[in-house]
This record gives sequence, C-alpha cells and structure tokens, in this order.
Amino acid sequence: MAGVSTLLKYKLTVLGDESVGKTSIIIRFTYDKFDSTYQPTIGIDFLSKTVHLEDFAVRLQLWDTGGKERFRNLIPSYIADSSYIVIVYDVTNRKSYLNISTWIEDVRTKRGNDAVIVLVGNKTDLVDKRQVSIEEGDNQARKFGCMFVETSAKDGFNVRHVFFRIISNVRQYK
Ligand code: GDP
Ligand code: MG
Repeated sequence: MAGVSTLLKYKLTVLGDESVGKTSIIIRFTYDKFDSTYQPTIGIDFLSKTVHLEDFAVRLQLWDTGGKERFRNLIPSYIADSSYIVIVYDVTNRKSYLNISTWIEDVRTKRGNDAVIVLVGNKTDLVDKRQVSIEEGDNQARKFGCMFVETSAKDGFNVRHVFFRIISNVRQYK
C-alpha cells in the first residue's frame, strides 16, 4: 500500500564496564545530545528510536544496562531477549578493553552465535589519553566475530554508524 511501510522491531542491549559511555552513546543517538556530568545508570533503562528508511522503518528498543552486582543478575535475561548486542569499551581505559571477553562470553553463553554483536571503542576525542589502539580493537572484534566501530559520544563521531551497521544487517535478513 502506498505510504505505508513495514515497521520492524528489534531489541538491542548495550553492555560494557561502568563509565565507558553506554548511556552517552544511546543519548547521542536518540536525542543528539551529550552531558559531561556522570550519572551512573541504576539497573536497566529503556529508550526507543525509530529510523525511517526508503522502503521500511526500524524501531530499535535500546536497553541500557548499569549498576553493580545486584543489577548484573538481571542482564542475562536482556541478553537472551535481544537480537542485537552492543559491547562498549573506553579507548582511554585499558581495563575496560580487557574486559570485553567477559562480556562476549556472557552473550555467547546465552545466545551462542545467534546474536549480532557490535564492538564499540568510545571516547576517541580524548586523543592524549588513548590506551587502546584502533588495531587492537579491530583485532579483538575479528577474534570474536563482531562488527567494530570507534566512536565519540561527546562530539558525535560515528555514533549513528553503530546503529546503521545494525540496520543494514536487518535489511540483509528482512
Ligand atoms: P556508562 O556508565 O557506560 O553509561 O557511561 P556514561 O555514558 O554515563 O559516561 C560516563 C562518563 O564518561 C560521563 O561523564 C560522560 O560524560 C563521559 N563520556 C561518555 N562518552 C564520552 C566520550 O565519547 N568522550 C568523552 N570525553 N567523555 C565521554
Ligand atoms: Mg549508564
């Protein structure tokens, strides 16, 4: 029917260590804003964003995870329910990069190779503080069979690209 396009809905969960920029990436993508004051995410937050394309639209339900142990127990059920997973590390925090494998294991345990994972190295604007090279990020992504993007939620660099990688994957299989 003319003027009516198919709406595809997908769940996406964002994982990664505290303070790497998970919430900031989601806020940048949905509202095109950035806040430099840190407000830790308590439990699990939810935002939705619809992207309209020529012949169809995609509604992404974005699940933003956070908090300490008490809430980490909740994360596996969100992983189980998501077609897409974004795992974020901070390019100025080597520990957050080393922890990627733990997050990937959590996903693979729940989903096998079923879920599509995008690995994101965030905070590229902090050039002088970088502790992880783009090659290291790329190698890790190849090793685990993920897509890979470096971003800055602060200046907006590549943030849309993360979600468009996912949407082009949707297009491929729709
Ligand atoms: P989360 O705990 O993973 O959700 O991290 P937040 O999104 O809350 O971000 C943690 C802190 O890092 C906040 O103070 C943000 O303003 C800051 N931050 C997030 N992304 C970036 C970025 O791309 N560049 C810079 N310079 N700071 C960022
Ligand atoms: Mg957060």
